[in-house]
Amino acid sequence: MLDQILKKSELTGDLTTEEIITLLELDDPEDLKRLYECAYQVKLQHVGRTAWFRGLVEFSNICSKDCYYCGIRRSNKEVQRFTLPEQNIIDSAVWSWNAGYGSAVLQSGERSDPEFVDMIERVLIEIKQKTNNELGITLCLGEQSEETYRRWFNAGAHRYLLRIETSNPELYKKLHPDDHSYSRRIECLDLLRRTGYQVGTGVMIGLPMQTNADLAGDLMFFKRQDIDMIGMGPYLFHSSTPLAQYRKEWEIPRERLLSLGLKMIALARIMMRDINIAATTALQALAGDGREQGLLAGANVIMPNTTDTEYRASYQLYENKPCIDENASMCRNCLSRRIERIGETPGFKEWGDSPHFAARQKTTQIIK
Ligand code: SAH
Ligand code: SF4
Repeated sequence: MLDQILKKSELTGDLTTEEIITLLELDDPEDLKRLYECAYQVKLQHVGRTAWFRGLVEFSNICSKDCYYCGIRRSNKEVQRFTLPEQNIIDSAVWSWNAGYGSAVLQSGERSDPEFVDMIERVLIEIKQKTNNELGITLCLGEQSEETYRRWFNAGAHRYLLRIETSNPELYKKLHPDDHSYSRRIECLDLLRRTGYQVGTGVMIGLPMQTNADLAGDLMFFKRQDIDMIGMGPYLFHSSTPLAQYRKEWEIPRERLLSLGLKMIALARIMMRDINIAATTALQALAGDGREQGLLAGANVIMPNTTDTEYRASYQLYENKPCIDENASMCRNCLSRRIERIGETPGFKEWGDSPHFAARQKTTQIIK
């Protein structure tokens, strides 16, 4: 029966909710191997063997929101807050360009005050100037107004990652305070799309109270939203957050959590073939080679950290974050080697947009 489902989905990309749940429940190592191999075949056919590098700059842990799962939420008083000096953010991005990365990701806690919005705009303009307009820039800065999204787009950002966290509105409610809104999150995804960004979203995997039916719903949601990229990863408990109270009851053993994360990547690749899928750092927190395993299960993007080492320890969304004491060039070299070792090619010098986005652009132009 497994072979039947895999054969059909490899050809068509179609899976029913019931089939997704069946595949999420697999735990025999041989079965898992077959699932990952199927996803890897789909990956080879539709996006190839290149792992695109994005230099990640986590430039501030100041956040106006209070998500119950996150280590840098506003109410966590144990965190030392920092924002990198403006020039330092720019330098990190320019470092990525010099290192041959086609693009950089700027990520931080959520702020929408005018000083912050202006600062990001200035940073974007200067990064573009200093890199001959060549470096691609992805933002991961949370919910913002349509005007802010437009200003940052016009200043040079072209991709935006905004995770929906879970596509189940009831579960979303349990993970956030009352003034954090699921429908506003969806609205932001639409605004981003309308502004012209390549839009990425994602979820956390293995959350307290989350079921396999929820995860199947997440994959269906991505497909329905016709998104260009996915950045999803395992949820990891942080002890100074409200969600830590569920640890005893809900924590999934590392190995099972890792394989749940890999199954989600594999299914996303099988169902959405030509999109970009990131092998996120949270996978590496579970296993030293977690990101490589992610690439072999169907992911094709990797985001080495380029933030100054001095600040890394304070940007802990979850505990035991890997590589907090390695500098950017150590990350680059170590990752390139690891990627080549598994038979993948590190992707440098190009933006590495998803073929899905290119196809979507063509269709929009025809419709226009
Ligand atoms: N503030 C922005 C971007 C930074 S947070 C935003 O929220 O969009 C980036 C992502 O980190 C979040 O979307 C969330 O999915 C993830 N994250 C937060 N806490 C986490 C945890 N404990 N384990 C795993 N991922 C977490
Ligand atoms: Fe802030 Fe993002 Fe963490 Fe939520 S997930 S508290 S918005 S940094």
